[in-house]
Amino acid sequence: MAPNFRNSKIYRLVSDFTNLIYIGSTVQELRKRYFNHRAHFKKWIRGHYDYCSAYQIVMFSDFRIELVEAYPCMSLHELHTREQYWKDRTHHCCNKNDAILTENGILRRKNHRRMFQRNQYHEKKNHFCDICGVYINSQPSRITRHEITDTHQANLRIMNQII
Ligand SMILES: [Zn+2]
Repeated sequence: MAPNFRNSKIYRLVSDFTNLIYIGSTVQELRKRYFNHRAHFKKWIRGHYDYCSAYQIVMFSDFRIELVEAYPCMSLHELHTREQYWKDRTHHCCNKNDAILTENGILRRKNHRRMFQRNQYHEKKNHFCDICGVYINSQPSRITRHEITDTHQANLRIMNQII
């Protein structure tokens, strides 16, 4: 099922046993995201899942998930840009340097409102990739060419962190 980025939110994981804070983003309910973090941690312990810096907090039995802000937006890229904004402003953030992937591999910060207006303008003639947050010429061959790029593929792989 395609994620609805209008349900986007930024959250943090905290525990009384550590002053580390994990900043994350999701389109899910926080309660669901909480159980996913816990399930992934248990799988990782048994060697069946990838490491995530959140485990430094999830390992404590009292860990909690808290809403930082609701952030309705249009793409994974926009959501990750906002996530990075909060990481940069959070003391003891345990996942501070996670990069944002963009079409040219450069970390970019964009004005949310301006981006939103520009989106509405471009939407009419172009195909919008809501995974990467970019517009592509709507010719099918151009869309296909975009979907096989490393950036799009890498962004697809991190999708499972937010849905
Ligand atoms: Zn894409």
